[in-house]
Amino acid sequence: MVSDFVQKMMFAKQLEIEEGRIELLGFRMVMLPAYTLTKFIEELYKVHGDEAFDIVKRVGKHHGRYATDVLGREHEIPPRRFIHETLDSSGILGLGKLEAEIMNFDEGKMVFRIEGSPFPEQFRQSNILSDVEGPVDHLQLGMLIGIASDLFDTPVTARETKCEFLGHTHCKLAVTTGDKVPEE
Ligand SMILES: [Zn+2]
Repeated sequence: MVSDFVQKMMFAKQLEIEEGRIELLGFRMVMLPAYTLTKFIEELYKVHGDEAFDIVKRVGKHHGRYATDVLGREHEIPPRRFIHETLDSSGILGLGKLEAEIMNFDEGKMVFRIEGSPFPEQFRQSNILSDVEGPVDHLQLGMLIGIASDLFDTPVTARETKCEFLGHTHCKLAVTTGDKVPEE
């Protein structure tokens, strides 16, 4: 089941699948099992401990900035529209169902809810990661930081304030241009 936006992209040849090659909005994509991505995080964790999660967050930030940059430039999607379309298309990346709860551009404040992220279940199943403390959606948090810092054109503060890994019913990511992230 894909969203109208994704169907539109497929129709407009923005999602192309040919032998050995997948492209989405002009980005070459690689499809990996969530298991494999989690193994990657496990290996980072074995070497770097908690610093591994900062690395994952920084990778997410690269993703966010690259996406806003390439899409903004090549597809002439302004950042504000980009964020709406990102919400619509995030499901196709398999990183959970992303919904905006607060999008206040004037106050530089955004809160997103994620349902069904792969990381809480993968971390629970991992011998290495099941005991880590705190929320676990570092990749999506980093992506949000990358996108929001581009969007607001200033450094941002962001935090995952709720996480399915911690027993909450959904995950929640909050980002602000101020020092204190919105809790709700
Ligand atoms: Zn989470």
